[in-house]
Amino acid sequence: MSGGDMAKPLLGHRSMEGDPSITPAAGRTIGVLGSGDFARSLAIRLVCSGFKVVVGSRNPKRKAGLFPSAAEVTFQAEAVKKTDVIFVAIFREHYSTLCDLADVLAGKILVDVSNNTEINHHKESNAEYLASLFPACTVVKGFNVVSAWTLQSGARDGNKQVLICSNNQEAKRTVAEIAQVMGFTPVDMGCMSSACEIENIPLRLLPAWKIPIFLALGLFLCFFTYNLVRQVIHPYIREQKNKFYKIPVEVVNTTLPCVAYVMLSLVYLPGVLAACSQLYYGTKYRRFPDWLDQWLQHRKQIGLLSFFCAALHAVYSLCLPMRRSHRYQLIETAVKQAVEKKMNIWVEEEVWRMEIYISVGIIALGLLSLLAITSLPSIANSLNWREFSFIQSTLGFIALVISTLHTLTYGWSRAFDENQYKFYLPPTYTLTLLVPCTVILAKVVFSLPCIQQRLLRIRRGWEKGRYVKFVLPSATGEYSSGETSSNV
Ligand code: NAP
Repeated sequence: MSGGDMAKPLLGHRSMEGDPSITPAAGRTIGVLGSGDFARSLAIRLVCSGFKVVVGSRNPKRKAGLFPSAAEVTFQAEAVKKTDVIFVAIFREHYSTLCDLADVLAGKILVDVSNNTEINHHKESNAEYLASLFPACTVVKGFNVVSAWTLQSGARDGNKQVLICSNNQEAKRTVAEIAQVMGFTPVDMGCMSSACEIENIPLRLLPAWKIPIFLALGLFLCFFTYNLVRQVIHPYIREQKNKFYKIPVEVVNTTLPCVAYVMLSLVYLPGVLAACSQLYYGTKYRRFPDWLDQWLQHRKQIGLLSFFCAALHAVYSLCLPMRRSHRYQLIETAVKQAVEKKMNIWVEEEVWRMEIYISVGIIALGLLSLLAITSLPSIANSLNWREFSFIQSTLGFIALVISTLHTLTYGWSRAFDENQYKFYLPPTYTLTLLVPCTVILAKVVFSLPCIQQRLLRIRRGWEKGRYVKFVLPSATGEYSSGETSSNV
């Protein structure tokens, strides 16, 4: 994959990087109003990128020492006079204090870098508000998505994208050019009406992760309660045995694989539902319901959370023998066997079950790690579509099958043992098998040639009941036309 592809912005807007109309800008003088954290980092970055910088402060004498010696720190009015492009690095509340400078600011480009403290805090965006205060200036929104820290570290360590919007193309191009010289990737977000969206971006907390995290927490809570009742509450009520010590490690460790396994199957279930819908309606052009669309879009996050739970389960399992309770139980069993003079404790079936259980568990975790690594943008970008879909789809499905083997070898014949039904509740592993086995079964059905062929045709654009025009050569060599159903 080319370097250009790697540099593609994550957002679906036009990247301005490599735009031939953008020319090198280093050497020009850039103004910065304000002397706070952002202004300082911006000035350092601009100086390092070869720009001349003039900082406008209300108190230049006091603030000059905070800036690199190459930057000129002067009064606001003086700074504004010396440049055509001015970064306004002050908070929205203080914009009105700049109104005295309206005359000197007229005709200049003002870059609004401000953020809010809440999403949609004000009716109009900060940039629109600045534009309304200074109608004789051209306002460009930009740089608010990069932090003072990213500015100082020079875009090596942090988000490289700078989202830019303005109603003036020329001004937008000038700011994009500055961003590019500073080592950032300018992204054209269109006109000023996008400013509100750009200002909301730094305030969003993991927007794509909310649903998957709630899903994982919900599943964890359900399985934890179920395991708690079976492993702790049942022995306490029925046999007056105190097993509460199991809660921090054992109950959590039996809950984590349930969540990991069900979450993994939930990565593949929406694909199955989508295929069912396409087969039922005989078209790929019908929109999926919103909930299915959302689900399909969150598969990556659901898969990563599944990997996270599986990794925690592996660590917990490795630590099981370290617990005091485990040592006491081991010694107790050994003493009991010595008292009963039992010499041969080797159970061949149990030995084989554990060997297979551990081995398939390790393989499943290895495959899940591969899926997680290849879902990272930098790795995914280095794979072509076929490689990516082979790993995420085929290997992912194999991981689900191997996880099913891991679960089955863990449960073994417990589902048929009546003592395992605590309070008539079946062993947890039988519940976890429901969704994954449905997915596996559906995938097997879809791989039957008659269904696979139909699905393939639908995905190539064929539609049930759609009449298509056909053209046949007649006996005389002329062409006659007619209508037929594409079903036929
Ligand atoms: P800050 O450290 O508090 O600096 C604000 C500066 O505004 C002050 O140093 C002050 O400089 C100037 N100012 C001008 N008029 C003022 C007035 N009437 N009252 C108080 N101060 C006044 O804030 P900051 O962190 O640099 O943030 C500045 C802007 O950048 C904000 O809009 C913020 O949303 C945006 N931003 C910041 C970051 C970040 O990482 N910090 C990231 C993205 C965007 P003088 O005293 O020299 O005039």
